Amino acid sequence: MKPTYFELDFAITCIDTAHIRSDFVAAYLIEDNGRYAFVDTGCHLSVPILLATLQAKNIAAENVDYIILTHIHLDHAGGAGELIKHLPNAKVYVHKYGAKHLIDPSKLRDGVISVYGELFFKQFLGDLIPIDEGKIIIAKDGDKIRLGNRILTVINTPGHARHHICIWDEKSQGIFSGDTLGVSYRELDTLQGELIFPPTTPIQFDPEAWKNTIKKLQKLEPKYAYLTHFNRIKWSEKSAKMLISNIDNFADIAKQMQNQPKRHKAIKEALLEYLLKIAKAHGVSTDKTKQIKIFKGDLEICAQGLGVWLDNNS
Ligand SMILES: [Zn+2]
Repeated sequence: MKPTYFELDFAITCIDTAHIRSDFVAAYLIEDNGRYAFVDTGCHLSVPILLATLQAKNIAAENVDYIILTHIHLDHAGGAGELIKHLPNAKVYVHKYGAKHLIDPSKLRDGVISVYGELFFKQFLGDLIPIDEGKIIIAKDGDKIRLGNRILTVINTPGHARHHICIWDEKSQGIFSGDTLGVSYRELDTLQGELIFPPTTPIQFDPEAWKNTIKKLQKLEPKYAYLTHFNRIKWSEKSAKMLISNIDNFADIAKQMQNQPKRHKAIKEALLEYLLKIAKAHGVSTDKTKQIKIFKGDLEICAQGLGVWLDNNS
């Protein structure tokens, strides 16, 4: 297997986990002084790609100290149980609300199957392997993870999910953001920069908490966001503003569709219309069919998450 990965500055590698399509779900590998950490893993089916990346870069599995999970949604953490079987010295960092679901993934598996269906689970996510409790470290806000001589700081970042953490990397002045700093696909970059929008995944979307989290992260004045979806982008005040405004607009779209008889379908259609509109205003020239294909990777899940949010707030 020939893995696809991108060598970034500051000894950071962005690995394409090839989940669903290319350029969609990233996992990161950080190096310092010969020690390594993964941030997010992709799903179970992505693990051979992560291992092939270690092999291609001549990295011994023994030199990986950590698997840091931004949160336990399966496109971020589904591979952790399988991956750690191959990394004899690694420990898993995860928020306390996520830890129990890694030790006993049965509830998580049921939840995922109820959202995505059994067929999707088997075909695109694969499996979910429990992690030995002794291998798990609870990541608390402010914790400093030492990797070689590098310090990675844990920041609690609720909004996309209550158990979401981000990692502040002092060395690159960047944030490993999971889903917290939105999704942004390279096919939609223009002279205006990156198009960024929020993945409002079920079941804990909380717009107010999310916006507060972004404001808190802005105090660090990050120069980069290492997005899981997809790859590193330069980060600025403008990026934060775009994301905050799209969180508000997604929530407004959901509210406007609240009383539609086929609410889910109505939200999905309105979101697509909105995304195509902002892409056009952003100067995206990729043809419309391709844009729709890119947006469709998130639409179903975003609409479901907004539906859950409406139900919880009515
Ligand atoms: Zn997520």
